[in-house]
Amino acid sequence: MGHLIPLAEFAKLIVSKHGFTATIMTFASTASKTQQAFLSSLPSSISTLSLPPVSLSDLPPSAAIETRMSVEAVRLIPSITSALEQLKTRHTVVGFVADLFGADTFDAARDAGLRSCLFFPTNLMTLSLLLQLPEIDANLTCEFKELVEPVKLPGCVPIPGTEILSPLQDRSNECYKWMIHHGQKYREAEAILVNSFDEIEPEAAKILRHPEPGRPPVYPIGPLIQTGSTVDKAGREECLDWLDKQPANSVLYVSFGSGGTLTKEQMDEVAYGLELSGQRFLWVVRSPSDAGDFSSNYYDAESKKDPFVFLPEGFRERTKDIGMLVSSWAPQTKVLAHKATGGYVCHCGWNSTLETVVHGVPIIAWPLFAEQKQNAVMLSEGAGIALRLEKREDGVVGREEIAKKVKQLMEGAEGKRVRSKVAELKEAAAEGLKEGGAASQALAEVVAMWKKGSGCERDLPNG
Ligand code: UDP
Repeated sequence: MGHLIPLAEFAKLIVSKHGFTATIMTFASTASKTQQAFLSSLPSSISTLSLPPVSLSDLPPSAAIETRMSVEAVRLIPSITSALEQLKTRHTVVGFVADLFGADTFDAARDAGLRSCLFFPTNLMTLSLLLQLPEIDANLTCEFKELVEPVKLPGCVPIPGTEILSPLQDRSNECYKWMIHHGQKYREAEAILVNSFDEIEPEAAKILRHPEPGRPPVYPIGPLIQTGSTVDKAGREECLDWLDKQPANSVLYVSFGSGGTLTKEQMDEVAYGLELSGQRFLWVVRSPSDAGDFSSNYYDAESKKDPFVFLPEGFRERTKDIGMLVSSWAPQTKVLAHKATGGYVCHCGWNSTLETVVHGVPIIAWPLFAEQKQNAVMLSEGAGIALRLEKREDGVVGREEIAKKVKQLMEGAEGKRVRSKVAELKEAAAEGLKEGGAASQALAEVVAMWKKGSGCERDLPNG
């Protein structure tokens, strides 16, 4: 969902503002109920096409998500080529846009006579890392986590090796090799569209916006966040009614993204920590996972069991006047947009980060997997919109620490500092998306490239 949502927003934008039609192709293996509901809620000008299932049964059961998605993309190349050939019989197809794990499908577009762009749903820092990974890897003599010095990417906050992208944490794992491969393949794109904006990572933006031989032009076109989808399920909106009754800026939203889960022990600490803080909260509760597996719900946000049964005894009763619990999935953008929401315990997934920035809500960073840990470093030390949590020696964040940081965010001086910084970024993000703003202009350049390349300038509105 974290990749599909911004891609769909991008499709909506090029349809509504630039007069194109769009077709979104998805993997059969990721077709969760949440995803299907989301796809069927898209406007009729956006078609969807579920690619045929491919077998991944030869992969070991332990194969990482990144490996599975990458292998699936390669095996789907012939199907994508024939889907594109089909589309070409009905439309003037101006371009093909692939997700960050789908760079191999550039070959499918090439076979169908099309040029490809990369849609990078996360930030410039992660793009910079992947573009440079082949070179970084060639000079690396140990694991990232063993590095004494932090990784210094041009224009980015230094990232301690332990916080680098999770698929890069074990160099012997297949998914590490795939990431290097993707980093190389990205250079074949005609352009790279990134869901970020200059002010949140200004130095990286300056460097990546500058043309560089051998690297495609980079266009920060964000923040594109979820708008008006009906993925929010009926009957789950009680939480919005509850927010209506709370004072302005008084509620802490607690959520770990579309796939993040906590261990039972950690879930207990969150519950007791929230209770100790005495602050109002809205918590999206998921059934706990086994230790170390933070992404066990990645393809299906629905908890397999009733998550509330895992809460500490008496917790719901004791916190009923200050807390609202939601099972598995909340209408997040509506929650963040609500005037009662004053803080967010956030897993630092990039979409959630952009959503919180767009609505001016400061965060407590609680990264779990993917690029979330390096995002947390950037958001606290670079952008200055996040407070960090200290883990205990056993890796668990204790209840006292949770309560302390929650109080700091909602009532303390530190909270004020990050709140005022996020308000600045909110303003800058809105400016960039306006007509003539940096993000709008970046998108207009890509659109002009497509129109020019296809010779269909006159067939489309806006030139
Ligand atoms: N989301 C939501 N409700 C939830 C959890 C997540 O609407 O209860 C949406 C959220 O608004 C965001 C996306 O799912 O658009 C999560 O993407 P992100 O990149 O933040 O994290 P990921 O799910 O990829 O870990």
